[in-house]
Amino acid sequence: METKYIFITGGVVSSLGKGIIAASLAKLLKARGLRVTIQKFDPYINIDPGTLNPYEHGECYVTEDGAETDLDLGHYERFLGVYTSKANNVTTGKIYNTVINREREGAYLGKTVQIVPHITDEIKRRMLLLGQTGEYDVVLTEIGGTVGDMESLPFIEAVRQLQWELPDDTCMSIHLTLVPYLSAAKELKTKPTQHSVQMLQQAGVQPDVIICRTEHPLSDELRRKVALFCNVKPGHVIQSIDAWSIYQVPLNMHEEHLDELVVRKLRIENFNQPELSGLKSFLDRLRKPEREVDIALVGKYVSLQDAYKSILEALVHAGAANLCKVKVHSIQSEDITAANVAEKLKGMNGILVAPGFGERGLEGKILAVKYAREKGVPFFGICLGMQMCVVEFARNVLGLKGAISAEVNPEAEHKVIDMMEEQKKTTMKGGTMRLGAYDCEITQGTLAYSIYGKKKISERHRHRYEFNAAYTEQFTKAGMVISGHNPDTGLAEIVELPSHPFFIGVQFHPEYKSTPENPHPLFLHFVAAAIK
Ligand code: GLN
Repeated sequence: METKYIFITGGVVSSLGKGIIAASLAKLLKARGLRVTIQKFDPYINIDPGTLNPYEHGECYVTEDGAETDLDLGHYERFLGVYTSKANNVTTGKIYNTVINREREGAYLGKTVQIVPHITDEIKRRMLLLGQTGEYDVVLTEIGGTVGDMESLPFIEAVRQLQWELPDDTCMSIHLTLVPYLSAAKELKTKPTQHSVQMLQQAGVQPDVIICRTEHPLSDELRRKVALFCNVKPGHVIQSIDAWSIYQVPLNMHEEHLDELVVRKLRIENFNQPELSGLKSFLDRLRKPEREVDIALVGKYVSLQDAYKSILEALVHAGAANLCKVKVHSIQSEDITAANVAEKLKGMNGILVAPGFGERGLEGKILAVKYAREKGVPFFGICLGMQMCVVEFARNVLGLKGAISAEVNPEAEHKVIDMMEEQKKTTMKGGTMRLGAYDCEITQGTLAYSIYGKKKISERHRHRYEFNAAYTEQFTKAGMVISGHNPDTGLAEIVELPSHPFFIGVQFHPEYKSTPENPHPLFLHFVAAAIK
């Protein structure tokens, strides 16, 4: 079968959940037995979101091959259970970088380099790239941003050209909009949708399907109205009503016949009903928790939901598997002081100290670790969270006064967390951390071994600093076990305290690999420990 391309744009407002819709459609097509991948094209000029503050753009998601990407790729992987890669996230920065480098090499000698055709050609080349590997039947492309943004114009133009170039049944376009409800008028309003589609049409793109985000069901009359004014077939206006869980959205989209409509439009000979039993049984467990636990998430970006997206999702997956509702209490680490730490963490069944960068809020994280260690509360430290449990142990158990990470004070006497050798040579900030999947060897008889149930694992990384091996002996003697090592470099990857009911810190990011149908064992056991 020739590869089919589906383009998904959004209009009216941002944060409509385009990524969830794209992932849901991809999930349905995959569940019909098709080979599917999704990619995201982001209109910002950063080469990747690795240099963006999570407050700007939410979490930075890391792929197996070490790409720092948009958080929507996390949704793609969680919904599909298929890994993405560097090729699945393209930004305006990457496009321009390629074109400008090519210009310097002389590839366009004599020509004026322009947005059309040079930038749009490069966008199109990347849009088709995954499809040309022969590995996929369908490639979904989500265009970031909102139609009408100045930045997204070249991407929309590229979609227009591809729709014009490719055979009719090879490519289609889906537009997601908002149908707001005016409570004063007790009415759903379609005008913003009409305007958004008009803007898309002005750019030359006629959507085949319109998906309307709404808080109330759309009547047939209203659907017909949208269809007529937006020039799509009746029946091609689909409602996406607010769902109780994002994992319910694929089922809602199936009920609206989205997948059926897509295979018909793209003339994909596929009469399978999607096989969704795994997802359904996950949702059943999620719907009927038998108990509840309170987990503190201690971090500095807590005021933005999206900043710890993968961690929050991993807790949902682990909760469902444990038939337990995980109530996450986001605690701003900057607000934690020695005087209020007990008050802030009172009643918590588990404490998770989050990843992060820089000095702000660090002392609060250290206090939270101390509380968890001394009070025997299940503790889980991820990346910076692991580093801070090492610092806490150094200060309060080993008595190493002022112990800290070199990230905060490169001149400190006890840099128990230090910069990795390979990092000392790098001066550039973008894409230069220790990134992506690395093997880790687990010592038998440890907590980590009982959690993973095997010796060899692989997890994804994103950090510049590491446990300082010069202190290994002191730590080990005092009872902190280094239970996971990188087999090639010897870097410490997992630390734990056998004297504690559940205390584990990991240098990597297990949250990236948790999915509803395959919850991550570390999260699973952390929640189980919290239940106990
Ligand atoms: N800032 C720390 C480092 O670079 C931790 C990074 C993280 O938590 N992702 O090593």
